[in-house]
This record gives sequence, structure tokens and C-alpha cells, in this order.
Amino acid sequence: MEIMREVMVQYFQHRLLEWFDENQRVFPWREDKASRYQQIVSEILLQRTKAEAVARYFPVFFAKYPDWDTLIHATLEELEEMMKPLGLYRHRARRLYKLGEALRRRQGQLPGNGDELRDSGFAGLYITNAFELFMLKKRRPLLDVNMSRLLKRYFAPGDFIDVRFDKELQELANDIVEVRRCKELNWAILDYAALVCMKKNPRCPDCVLNKYCKYYAMR
Ligand code: SF4
Repeated sequence: MEIMREVMVQYFQHRLLEWFDENQRVFPWREDKASRYQQIVSEILLQRTKAEAVARYFPVFFAKYPDWDTLIHATLEELEEMMKPLGLYRHRARRLYKLGEALRRRQGQLPGNGDELRDSGFAGLYITNAFELFMLKKRRPLLDVNMSRLLKRYFAPGDFIDVRFDKELQELANDIVEVRRCKELNWAILDYAALVCMKKNPRCPDCVLNKYCKYYAMR
């Protein structure tokens, strides 16, 4: 890692964790009492959906499917019905169903690592990273469009490429989360992208990262 980038990375990590300690959003899947099952399933529900909507739906879903066992035995039709209030219900139901199916095939045993999960055929980069972060306690980035936007603006403003194919961005995201408080830094990035570095009209003058942000310097 070149020197300037190293300074930028450390500044980013430090400032965002500080900001998070004061400004974090509170969601049920982030509470200490949330099970790993709830954390993983919530990540599937969160894709392309506002966190506030998932938070409202959280008690309804987990009252009906409180653990892996109940999810494994759910039919696709039941899951579709359950997902209707959240939207994208077919897509989400299929993902949950495939997760249940993969577990059924493995007699209820969770995959031992990300490669096994990927081989199960239902998980892309984001869910594999979420699985490794929450279940296996590895340092992995929850790299979605929001994290991508913040990282790209701060480090290398330019054209946006689909994160699944942007190896440079994936590498950068992996470097960024190399901290002891990895889970918190992931949440800090997601919160910051939602509250400060928004897609439209980012609040650059008030931003704790503007000292080194390349997007801000170009404005
Ligand atoms: S200065 Fe602006 S673009 Fe840069 S990280 Fe902060 S809010 Fe985002």
C-alpha cells in the first residue's frame, strides 16, 4: 500500500468509528441479543431495501421463522407470501428458500467457509461476506452500492462499475475493514452513506472525511 493511501485508509477508519460511536443507527439485527441467524437473514432482507423498512418487518418475520430449523422447512410459496410486504418478494423468497435448501442438503449444517457457501449456488459476494463476517468472525466488507459510493468518492472518484466485477474496489474494501472493530466499521460505513455521503447532495462541508476526500477536493 503506498504511503498516501495508507494515511487515507487509517484516517477513514479512525474518523468513521469515532463518528459511529456518536451517531450510529439502532436496528434490531445489530443488538447484542440478535442471533447470527437473524443477522444473516436480515442481510438478505436488506438488499435493495431501506434499513428502516426491514427494521419494521423484523419482528413479523422472526416471529414466524425464529431459527434455521423453521426456515429449512418453509416452502417457497410460504416465503413468497411472507415477503410480499417488503417488495421484491419473489427474489427474496427464492434466496431464502435456496438458503434453506442448501442447509437441508447439508443436514442442517452451515457451510464451514465462504467457498462452500458460494458453491451452494445461492450466495453472491455480499451474502458470502456477511456470512463470513457474522458467522465466522472474519474481517469482511459488506460491499454494496452504498459502501461502493463512499469508498469511490473518498479514494478514487470515477465511473461506477458493478461491484461484483470491480476487483480494485473489492480489494480496497478488504483493506478498509482490516480493523479490530470490523463489524462496527462496516455498520459505520453503511450509516455514513445513508446519512452524510448520500447519493444526491452529499453533506461534504460537514463531513468528517472531507480533509482527504478526493471527490470533495475536485468540487
Ligand atoms: S466529503 Fe462529501 S463526497 Fe467525500 S466522503 Fe464526505 S460527504 Fe462523501
